[in-house]
Amino acid sequence: MELQKVHLNTASTLEPDGSVLVIYTGGTIGMVSDRSGSHLVPFNFEEIMHRMPELRQLNISISVISYTEPIDSSNVTEEDWIMLASIIRDNYEEYDGFVVLHGTDTMAYTASALSYLLENLQKPIIFTGAQVPIGKPRTDARENLVTALEIAVSTRTGRCIVPEVCIYFGNLLLRGNRSKKVESSHFNAFKSVNYPALAMAGVNIEYRPMLIRSLPKGPFIVHQQLERNIVRLKLFPGLAERVIRNLLATKGLKGVVLESYGSGNAPTAQWFLNAMQEAINRGTFILNVSQCDGGRVEQGRYQTSQYLQEMGVIGGADITSEAAVTKLMYVLGLGLPREETRKLLESNLRGEISEEPI
Ligand code: ASP
Repeated sequence: MELQKVHLNTASTLEPDGSVLVIYTGGTIGMVSDRSGSHLVPFNFEEIMHRMPELRQLNISISVISYTEPIDSSNVTEEDWIMLASIIRDNYEEYDGFVVLHGTDTMAYTASALSYLLENLQKPIIFTGAQVPIGKPRTDARENLVTALEIAVSTRTGRCIVPEVCIYFGNLLLRGNRSKKVESSHFNAFKSVNYPALAMAGVNIEYRPMLIRSLPKGPFIVHQQLERNIVRLKLFPGLAERVIRNLLATKGLKGVVLESYGSGNAPTAQWFLNAMQEAINRGTFILNVSQCDGGRVEQGRYQTSQYLQEMGVIGGADITSEAAVTKLMYVLGLGLPREETRKLLESNLRGEISEEPI
């Protein structure tokens, strides 16, 4: 992947409030109409100052690293996640914060993945994008980008306010690995049902200090390995035995995010239980996540989840599917022994689950 780095001259005479590296990957935010006016084409990010003169008023030193060929986020792969983590590692000391411009479709996955790859993160990584391209009069890109930049350099008592991976979108600052895209037409595209917003932007940006993580103590570590041989299995009434058996018996399958009903319930048909048990015996990890956006998996509450508990399915508590997929990819990528892997999958690694209902 070719990358371009440019420094934007904000032309302020004052000492900047902070420095931000913007990483532009693509998505609707960076689209403008072509000459004919009939198609949306990716925007050349060097021109951003012309499109958004208000950036000059921010008094932030801004550099931009841009994909030379910006992508629709439907094309994002785990290689992009590893590359983003590497860009952040290589520029970590030089900037106070990072803003990642990304398509909304898979933004919650990328933000979740980055939260795992960047261990002991001490700086803000703020993802944002737009529902309407920056070149359109009713774009939401301006507000999203300007506020994301402000959050990326915000400090209180000498330290950054949000030392974690977040999504800022439609006035809400959300923990990245608690977020979901819930809306494709309206501006409030993201929600975090099981964890409150970290901040709300109105006239002021109102942070909720109680919800914000303290600075981690350990050294900053950037992980580079993700396991791809996993699958999401969303249950529905009338599952076909042959299909499920074949899926779970896939050669090399390392992990399954089982999207179960309600508080973690699944069919008790013997063929289903056998297929799951055989997969576990072959060494596949199964992480149980609820199809409900709110609430949590409590294996054993009903008989229909007691069997899962007994056979060694791991309860995902109140994790989102996006965070579960990326957690499985990250933890399995560490290549640890079975018991340690299991422990990590059960644990709260980056604020993605609540130990107790909140
Ligand atoms: N398809 C676009 C993307 O995710 C949608 C968006 O950016 O809002 O890249």
